[in-house]
Amino acid sequence: MTPGAAVTIVNVGYRGTNYWVVSAGASRLLVDLGYPGTMGTMRAGLKRMGVPLDEIRYGLATHYHIDHAGLAQELKQAGVPLLALDTQVPAIPLMKRWTKPQDQYVDVTLDDNVTITAAESRALLAAIGLPGEILPTPGHSDDSVSLLLDDGSAFTGDLTPVSVATEAQAATVAASWQFLRDRGATRVYPGHGPIRALGR
Ligand SMILES: [Zn+2]
Repeated sequence: MTPGAAVTIVNVGYRGTNYWVVSAGASRLLVDLGYPGTMGTMRAGLKRMGVPLDEIRYGLATHYHIDHAGLAQELKQAGVPLLALDTQVPAIPLMKRWTKPQDQYVDVTLDDNVTITAAESRALLAAIGLPGEILPTPGHSDDSVSLLLDDGSAFTGDLTPVSVATEAQAATVAASWQFLRDRGATRVYPGHGPIRALGR
């Protein structure tokens, strides 16, 4: 890592989903991990944005749905360790329920991931030069997490905007957004769509 390097953010997404590369110099974290069977597309996106695959220190899925984590095992095979919060582990084996044979989904193994608690995330991120933390932000799904950088940037995956949450989700979603605000989030880098300000 480069000590004190400025944090930069680029999007290497495709097929309507954002995949964010958060970098401190040449030390990088990939937030959300591509559709199953799309390693070629991911490699092309990284190349286009000037991100060497071997500089990605971890891959983090905001949640285990195939548009966000379907490529996780293939990325592991390409040398990118999978970082998960302990609260996400039960959801990992369930992801294959949403895959079809033609997706060429490679099942995610559980014994070789870097699994940490939210409380441990700040130290792990600091070790790769990124000031911030990974927080459980349930609502869209029980396993949803957000990466929150100390500059207020929040990578929220599919955390549902309060205005479109279902009645069943509403309380959980609202609590997750409030939690992010309370921890300093000011700008949202969502799993789909443009970057937006997070209103108070
Ligand atoms: Zn999604």
